[in-house]
Amino acid sequence: MQSLFLCVFISISVGLITTSPQAIAESFQYENDQTDVLKLKFSSEYISEKLLIADRNRRENPVLYKKILAELAPLEKSFTRDQHSYYQFLQGYLAIYHGDYEQADKLLSEVLNSSADKLMKFRANYTLINVAAAKKDWSDGLRHIAVNKEMLPSITDKEHYQLSILTAVIFYNQLQQFDLVLKNIAQVKRDNLPQEHNCFLEQFSLEAKLNLQLIKPGDKSIDNGLDICQQAGNKISTNIIRVYRAKLYLKAQQPEKALAEILPYYDEINTTLFPMLIAGMNNTLAKSNYLIGNIKSAEKYALAALRANKNNTIIKQSADSYKLLYQINKSQKNIALALSYHEKYNALEVAHLEDEKSKHVAFQLAELKTFEHENQIILLNEQNTFLAAEQALSNIKVANIQLIITVMTLIIIMLIIWGARLWRSHKRVKALSEYDELTGIYNRRHFTQIAVSTLKYCQSAEQDLSLIMFDLDNFKKINDNFGHICGDWALKETIRVCETIGRKNDIFSRLGGEEFCILLPSCNIEVAVLRAESCRAAIENTITEESGNDFSITASFGVTDVARSGYNLEKLLIDADFAAYESKHAGRNRVTVFEPQEDETGKSLGNSWSVAP
Ligand code: GH3
Ligand code: MG
Ligand code: MG
Repeated sequence: MQSLFLCVFISISVGLITTSPQAIAESFQYENDQTDVLKLKFSSEYISEKLLIADRNRRENPVLYKKILAELAPLEKSFTRDQHSYYQFLQGYLAIYHGDYEQADKLLSEVLNSSADKLMKFRANYTLINVAAAKKDWSDGLRHIAVNKEMLPSITDKEHYQLSILTAVIFYNQLQQFDLVLKNIAQVKRDNLPQEHNCFLEQFSLEAKLNLQLIKPGDKSIDNGLDICQQAGNKISTNIIRVYRAKLYLKAQQPEKALAEILPYYDEINTTLFPMLIAGMNNTLAKSNYLIGNIKSAEKYALAALRANKNNTIIKQSADSYKLLYQINKSQKNIALALSYHEKYNALEVAHLEDEKSKHVAFQLAELKTFEHENQIILLNEQNTFLAAEQALSNIKVANIQLIITVMTLIIIMLIIWGARLWRSHKRVKALSEYDELTGIYNRRHFTQIAVSTLKYCQSAEQDLSLIMFDLDNFKKINDNFGHICGDWALKETIRVCETIGRKNDIFSRLGGEEFCILLPSCNIEVAVLRAESCRAAIENTITEESGNDFSITASFGVTDVARSGYNLEKLLIDADFAAYESKHAGRNRVTVFEPQEDETGKSLGNSWSVAP
């Protein structure tokens, strides 16, 4: 029974798209409105519409279908690319009707290879599964099934999606790959599936289960299949299922039940004129009768089976019939007849085995190709994973390097900022430790350091060095009369005017309060006195209005040098201070040069002389 559908195979799949009432109306209009046709004849819309009508009518109204295709033939040059593939596809269908499978294969393969329309390619491909089955080119059919499987995920058209799987189901049934039949049936989305399609699915499902020995004659699934096919009004499938059940009874050694299952439908089955069903039914009846011992009936049905399958289209059926006839005649000792049936049985059995073998080999080859293909995909996937991992690794490396660079840059920036701050605070600390904050000249501590090293140098170089010391006169009064701020201003102004006079390498210092000194390296006493006098005059001439008060500033100076006080800083400071004190004593605002005096003990005492203004 597995090969029972070879002839209906194409008609089923070709006719799965039912004709809509709209299509019939359109075709009616086509027949009755030729003037409109002439008007529209060359428009692209017209061509598209006609192609669609032809497609919808290709089973229900093959005459109209052929007519439209013939009418469109001269317009081929004005077809768009999509219209051309559609037309070619429909021509491919027509070739199937004519049994010209080579032409159908050529046209549909062209559509599959060159159409830009994804759905058209898909339809061409699954139709090629039918063509391959008709040609018994199993490898080609399996190749198209593999293509169909690849295309399926991108197909949104539900009807063609279901139809393509149904085509695969029929093909696998032909190939006797029943587990794949069941697998594909499970894959069909049954929602909104027309009842007729559902009936076919039930029928193929039961046939697969029968062959895989998965059902018993009393199984509910058989009743269910019968219900669905009866509701669909499909007599052929309904009776095919009945024959399946009868076969199962036969297998279970219940020939009476097998007979009871089919006999009531004997006439109905014969009226279907469906050879494979009739042959199948007669064979089952023949075997059942043989088992019961009704040899005459068995022979009658076996011969009827052979008549129904007279072209031996389904080899296995004929082989079964001949085998039974051989057994019957052998048991009746009709040796000559038995031998002739046996020869026929033998020849058909060999042909059947050859057929089975070719299907098996084709399937194995296809499986091998799929295996290789899948392995290639796995290999490519592994390579891709490896490349992706490598890429990810190098990305991580780059990211790490970027991170290190960023962190290092941040560290460097922080170090620079930190260094700059350190340098600034160091500079500030240094300034605070070396300079007097108010006047900006050296403070006493720093002055002492520099003065000591300068003295050492001048001593070793035997150079002159002088020291001027001065103290502002009555400075307390300025503070008292005009405030501390004004006093500060006076201190700063004093230094400013004195600095404009001096040399670059003079060392100016605030010793404390309003007391200052200037160390003059390489400077003899005469020049130092002149310098002190210039300072004194400049202080005296200070314009004080700028401070907001009108007052005068004067200072008392004391000058000494190394010839008088030696290369000793402390002595130089004491002697200069002594001379300055002398200036104060003499009336202030003057310069006094320290002059040492020899006393009776040989120690020098200050004996200074003043330079009055
Ligand atoms: P003499 O002529 O005898 O030197 O009299 P004098 O008033 O200048 O001397 P005295 O030592 O009595 O006063 C010095 C004053 O200088 C006392 C002190 O308040 C003031 N002085 C010390 N340092 C500063 C300072 O930085 N700013 C101000 N405004 N005044 C200061
Ligand atoms: Mg003083
Ligand atoms: Mg003073």
